[in-house]
Amino acid sequence: MQVKFLGAAQTVTGSKHMLTTTKGKNILLDCGLFQGRGADNDTLNRVFAFKPENIDAVILSHAHMDHSGNLPNLVKQGFAGKIYCTPATYDLCEIMLTDSAHIQEGDVSYINKKRVKKGKAQLKPLYTLHDVEKCLRHFQTIPYEHWYTINDEVRFMFTDAGHILGSAAVNLILSDTGKEIKVCFTGDIGRSSDLLLKPPAPFPQADYILCESTYGNRLHEPIEEAEQRLLRIVRQTCVEKKGKLLIPAFSLGRTQEIVYTLDRLQTSKQLPPVKVYVDSPLATNATNIMRAHPEAFNEKVIEYLKSDPDPFGFNNLLYTRNVTESMDINSSTEPCVIIAASGMMEAGRIKHHLKHNVGDARNTLLIVGYCPPESLGAAFLAKEKFVRIFGQQFEVKIQIEVMNSYSAHGDYKEMTEYLSCQDKTKVKKVFLVHGELQVQKDFKEKLTAVGFADIAIPAPGNSFMLE
Ligand SMILES: [Zn+2]
Repeated sequence: MQVKFLGAAQTVTGSKHMLTTTKGKNILLDCGLFQGRGADNDTLNRVFAFKPENIDAVILSHAHMDHSGNLPNLVKQGFAGKIYCTPATYDLCEIMLTDSAHIQEGDVSYINKKRVKKGKAQLKPLYTLHDVEKCLRHFQTIPYEHWYTINDEVRFMFTDAGHILGSAAVNLILSDTGKEIKVCFTGDIGRSSDLLLKPPAPFPQADYILCESTYGNRLHEPIEEAEQRLLRIVRQTCVEKKGKLLIPAFSLGRTQEIVYTLDRLQTSKQLPPVKVYVDSPLATNATNIMRAHPEAFNEKVIEYLKSDPDPFGFNNLLYTRNVTESMDINSSTEPCVIIAASGMMEAGRIKHHLKHNVGDARNTLLIVGYCPPESLGAAFLAKEKFVRIFGQQFEVKIQIEVMNSYSAHGDYKEMTEYLSCQDKTKVKKVFLVHGELQVQKDFKEKLTAVGFADIAIPAPGNSFMLE
């Protein structure tokens, strides 16, 4: 048995880990996109480090693009097996991969216009809508806490990872000449106090753990304080300064958390009467999928539903659908709150809103999510005086606020707590994945301190024997 780390190794995107059994079967854990690294990631996404036709099955931890986003390309290049995921993950992949195809096609047509002018050959999108439709036919859904046998060497069970709707840790039992090797791939680990979702579920004892490490050296601000802090920022920006509050947010997860927070503030009559726009068709669809999976909500939300049956809707909240509606928000001078994707500010409508509002000190940019190095979001976080948006330079006058309490990832304490369901003396090795190298080194120290004896930080392409 072997494990090979092909993405999200010493970095956070491109999640892709290959298990190869004794009989030579290849199981791919996740098939995510590399994001936020400009030209480099294009090649990394287009060219797989293996032959897709040699993969027997994919097990998908959750629907985020850095975990699922390259699946259509995998199928396009010859993968013919099944893609296993939870039912909610499938629902989300349907809308998110479709959206991703639109982005791929849109990006390429923009680049091609420039290439044509320079007499260069046209590029093809990474994948198209047609490829997504083909890919979706390979999906098979498996509920949480249900063992599923792929072949005589591989069985697995999803446990709730509490990170986003449908997210799972993948627990595998690999049969190897008379003995069993137990592997857990945590996927992304959620929080014990998530605003909407249940906390991560304990998982069966493993010999090897592939553990995420995004926030392996950080502690989040308590979520309880988020509500009042958000209220203060809305008041300061929209009431006192009469400006616009821009909140870049993942369409799935963060958007619903922000909307739910505002919904609660509205219900308790604290929210000033300003318009709130969710300016993202994908976020609108994702919100509907969340509404369709109330089984995922934690006790606090279930309780809240008794007084307000829709936690994602209130007067003054508008979900925009088309581009005209989105452009109308820009031409309006009224104070408002705009929630739009993408969270890293690399794509989506938020870029247009930033372009229009970045140069006005009355406005506020509230960063509530992770921004990888070199992303536009990282430039704002670094308090750079000038930023480039759509190839144009803008002076940054917008006020910048950062809130870390909304993370969908557990901090090091929460991840350590999650791993406490394990008898550490039985864990042969922990592989840290999905984190920046320095953060991983810090997290390794923290895990060593609580008793994990052997912790590796694999580099891209590294492989290890599991025995
Ligand atoms: Zn994720």
